[in-house]
Amino acid sequence: MQKYKDKSLNIEERIDDLLSKMTNEEKVGQMLQVSYNTLSKEDYEKYKNLGIGSFLHVLGDEADDIKKRAEKTRLGIPPIFGIDAIHGHCLLNGATVFPSQLAMSSSFNRKLIHDMGKATAKEVAADGLDWTFSPVLCIARDLRWGRVNETFGEDSYVIGELGKAIIEGYEEDNLIIACAKHYIAYGEATGGRDAYDSEVSERKIREVFLPPFEKAAKIGCGSVMTAYGTVDSVPLNANPRMVREILKDEIGFDGFVVSDYENVLNLVTRQFIAENLKDASKLSIEAGNDMSMNTHEFYDCVSELIEDNEIDIKYIDDAVRRILRAKFRIGLFDGKKTVDRSVINCNEHKKLNHKLAQESAVLLKNDGTLPLKENKTIAVIGPNADDIRAIYGDWTYFSHPVPKENVTPMGDYYTIRRGMEEVFGKENILYSKGCDILGEENYIDDAVKIAEKADVVVCVIGDCLAQNGEYRDRADLELSGYQTELVKRLIDTKKPVIAVLVNCKPLCISYLKENCNAIIEDFNGGDFAGLAIAEMIGGKFNPSGKLTISFPRHSSQTPCYYNQYEGWHGGQYVDLEKGYVYEFGDGLSYSEFEYSNLHLSKHTIKNEEEITVSVDVTNKGNMDGKETVLMFVNDVISSVLTPTKQLKGFEKVFIKSGETVTVNLKLNIKDLAIVTRDLEYIVEKGKFEIMVGRNTKEYLKDILSVEENIKL
Ligand code: BGC
Repeated sequence: MQKYKDKSLNIEERIDDLLSKMTNEEKVGQMLQVSYNTLSKEDYEKYKNLGIGSFLHVLGDEADDIKKRAEKTRLGIPPIFGIDAIHGHCLLNGATVFPSQLAMSSSFNRKLIHDMGKATAKEVAADGLDWTFSPVLCIARDLRWGRVNETFGEDSYVIGELGKAIIEGYEEDNLIIACAKHYIAYGEATGGRDAYDSEVSERKIREVFLPPFEKAAKIGCGSVMTAYGTVDSVPLNANPRMVREILKDEIGFDGFVVSDYENVLNLVTRQFIAENLKDASKLSIEAGNDMSMNTHEFYDCVSELIEDNEIDIKYIDDAVRRILRAKFRIGLFDGKKTVDRSVINCNEHKKLNHKLAQESAVLLKNDGTLPLKENKTIAVIGPNADDIRAIYGDWTYFSHPVPKENVTPMGDYYTIRRGMEEVFGKENILYSKGCDILGEENYIDDAVKIAEKADVVVCVIGDCLAQNGEYRDRADLELSGYQTELVKRLIDTKKPVIAVLVNCKPLCISYLKENCNAIIEDFNGGDFAGLAIAEMIGGKFNPSGKLTISFPRHSSQTPCYYNQYEGWHGGQYVDLEKGYVYEFGDGLSYSEFEYSNLHLSKHTIKNEEEITVSVDVTNKGNMDGKETVLMFVNDVISSVLTPTKQLKGFEKVFIKSGETVTVNLKLNIKDLAIVTRDLEYIVEKGKFEIMVGRNTKEYLKDILSVEENIKL
């Protein structure tokens, strides 16, 4: 038996053997990823027989043919199939559609998100695929950016923690590998424009943008995708400092790096960094990109570079080693574990999805109207009340890779209307669309008539796919079309109005906050969004979601995030009230939670130490409920600016009505470090405020001291 086929050897030995047998062309083949649905018939035949390293956007049976051809190549190296299983294996109609990353982040529930990752891995593997381009670890602070919905929100710590949870879920059974993307500072593009320059320094990158990727690398995430963007004018696809030196050499990431779609080509055609594809391929590889997503000429260019001795073969060998490592890890050489297709959208996944949908929804305002107590006639009104496309959000078969707008979903799903009918009885629900999200048309008179017949109005508004996603940034974050007029006319009926937001990003909702009786934010809640919202309205469970992203008062109040510096001249626009409409951490429950007895296990901390911060939380309400306890730190005096509140811990706990639970949070010395002007990680001596509470405004505080500077 060939050594690399011998399962009893360790992976690195097997790779050594395989590498020693590979020709240069075979090595280059491994470094190319080909997009299945953009290939002509001839190219398809060509690439299948060449022993290409990876294909993307292949679904189900299509993969089998490619696998069989790969088996027939000289060394029989299996391809790795990548897919955008972003919130479930959603490019496959019939698979579970989980809440979007932004929606599920509101759950603050590491366990549910881990389980969601694990369930998705099973569905992807059951479809014959091996690799998901998820999670997105970008930070969404500029809300104009079109891809806010793909993120875990605005805070680096939350993103790192939830990223870790989902990656561990994806990779736990070694069925697929994950891909942490888009490296790095992609969401921070100037002006909130997708695929643009991020004017950030290396110090800022290390402080804010790198930690989630570092966490992902440290737990062995299989791959990282470099961003379309540039950092300080250097494209990530040609940025050795960011990719090779920091990610690989310094952090020790041992997976492989894939470029984003056609991003080698972009160096020539859009960014004008390279004159031709040969130069672009060389720049990309030397910078640390191991696989090129869909620039097909890469194959010939790199083969030529090697032949002409224009590239150091050590870069090629390292890239191929990393790609092979991932393939060995998930057993591609050893007859990968098969997963039965019956797992796709199975009951267990539905149950999990339902739970996640419940915990993802955020109750932002409640004047006591909720939960609805008696049987009432309810008018369900609004453009997103009965539209599953809006509820699903981006990255499903409706939108990618080839949008299939008019197909019928094969899985079970709940619009808000259906959920309301199920929870409150069909006979009690009246419906009117009211208006479109974008269109010129409105049916507001009809909606008002319906509202007048009801005791209470549930108005479901927000945004739509055309306003979100790649290439779709927004300058205006107001509710579009006739939506505000619709809400005003409903308010005029004097019926209680519950606003439900189905949207891919925070919008300007001051009017709703002032005038509606209750507001529920659902972002894109997946298959069970409609049921979860109806259940929340009916008091079938106690809301526990909290925002991971802030809501601006005005479109021009972006970037918008809780841990911005305060500013030294008031930090406020002359024509806008200070602060946000809703902020990171906001979210109500039907119970009231009281915090007491904040306690630090030590008040002075030294090198290598960890302390426990504990607090008692009492559920003063009549309903059992879950509460997310947030811990913020303020480095009081520091040699570079630090936010006055930076999240450094959170824990979600279940507390029975009337009971008190002691919540323990760990605070490590590393959590207190700053990145200095010289790019060193130092815990500076002095005082640190430790704040523990419900949100950024209601918390208890104590002081922790560090007696001398500690270099990490
Ligand atoms: C996106 C990536 C995605 C890739 C493959 C790109 O345009 O930026 O997030 O994984 O396409 O679909």
